Amino acid sequence: MIKGSGEEPESVQSSEEIEQKIPEGTTVEASKVAKVPKRNMDKPSKKAIEEENMDEGEMVFVMPGDIIGTTEEFSPGVGTFLHVADIHAASTGIVKIDRKARIISVVPSTKYPPSINIGDIVVGNITGLRESVALVEIAAIKGEGEREFQKVGTAAIHVSNVKDSYCKRLDEEFSVGDIIKAKVLNTENMRLSTAEKGLGVMKAQCFNCRTVMVKDNNKLKCPECGRVEKRKLSSDYGTGIV
Ligand code: ZN
Repeated sequence: MIKGSGEEPESVQSSEEIEQKIPEGTTVEASKVAKVPKRNMDKPSKKAIEEENMDEGEMVFVMPGDIIGTTEEFSPGVGTFLHVADIHAASTGIVKIDRKARIISVVPSTKYPPSINIGDIVVGNITGLRESVALVEIAAIKGEGEREFQKVGTAAIHVSNVKDSYCKRLDEEFSVGDIIKAKVLNTENMRLSTAEKGLGVMKAQCFNCRTVMVKDNNKLKCPECGRVEKRKLSSDYGTGIV
């Protein structure tokens, strides 16, 4: 879209619609993207790729087949295909415009990983134990499969959020290297909780011989050397179920 070009009332309206669906500064997950209705191919709304919007860092999500420009305005780039003089999106993703080269392309939405939200169930491993917090490196978000996600750095489980009952010592609940399942309590300083029954340690190795331990009543037992260790266990310990 060339700046300052004539604006039809219709396209102005569709621009507003798009803005309502995708508020500024939000990350939109693929599942939500899929809900954005396909634009009418006969009357494409080229307002969707307003360069002014792109200036403000706003991202425009498109679906396969959406017209994102014409050959008068741009050269088709990666993730697009040409039909007559129209440039279409070849995949679901975010429109990217190279102003200098006048190339329009679509960056697949999977390259914009989902962010972590409050209430998400995450899987990670214990990287350290402090007096009042266990440090966790998050490896995956439940429901996001193998998809990558926005790295958050180190998350933490405060001693008060380990279990429902009083937790005296963190080293009686976790050990460095344990794989845990936890719920996100807040995303500002990435606090997690393992208090629920299903949350806690999913997999742990024996301190002596590094063998993966098996659940034995409410404790863990090493099948190799017989060592018994305590943990805040998830009810899914050993099942691999997240
Ligand atoms: Zn052992």
